[in-house]
Amino acid sequence: MLQRRLIASIHDVSPRFESEVDQLSDLLGHRLGDRFAMLVVPNHWGDSLIVPGSPFATRLRSWSDRGIEMLLHGFFHRDDVAHQGLLDRARGRLMTAGEGEFLGLSAGLAANRIAHGRSVIEDILGKPVAGFVAPAWLYGPGALDALATSGIPLAEDHWRVWSPQTGRTLARGPVITWASRSRARLRSSLIAAASLRHAPVHTLRIGVHPPDVRHERLVRSIDDTLTFAMVKRRPASYSELLAA
Ligand SMILES: [Zn+2]
Repeated sequence: MLQRRLIASIHDVSPRFESEVDQLSDLLGHRLGDRFAMLVVPNHWGDSLIVPGSPFATRLRSWSDRGIEMLLHGFFHRDDVAHQGLLDRARGRLMTAGEGEFLGLSAGLAANRIAHGRSVIEDILGKPVAGFVAPAWLYGPGALDALATSGIPLAEDHWRVWSPQTGRTLARGPVITWASRSRARLRSSLIAAASLRHAPVHTLRIGVHPPDVRHERLVRSIDDTLTFAMVKRRPASYSELLAA
């Protein structure tokens, strides 16, 4: 069995992006079977609540029953607090276009949103979420405090996957991801993907987003990256990092 791992995930899974999520799960599933993850937003921007019993909730449950791993990805996704520090404010805006929900939350508020988000998703799935990923991979001190006591087994940012309880690093290395907000960003993300797919890391992570499917070159780059990675890697789950 190949030792090196490939962990792929679809970000921003929400009823708002149902058709994009469909296209992305076909794209990933074609290469990886059901061995990939979905990062689920319980109520994207406050107007896309995943309602138990709704058609989308049923689909989420059936993806999960097929073995696709489900992680909690914020609650609203959008950053709705006024940040204390200027640096955080600049960081939040520049890096995320206001999508860094967990950057400026207090520990109490972060804990509430994590608990609420989990209960929405876990009631639908009938099983625990596999982990938590903050929107735009941005964690403020409050989010880290809340996670440490949440009982959630793993979290990731751009550079690593770790256990929030112990702080132990479970995997190290960048996430390959694509951007399409501007042509310059799109072009540089294609170049980065073509280079990072060669990274000699033990666990290579790939994260795709709903807008990616709107750009043909980007879809091709995702597929090329998966194909290349699968030559020397096997598709893996986040959860198996805990056993390693
Ligand atoms: Zn996201």
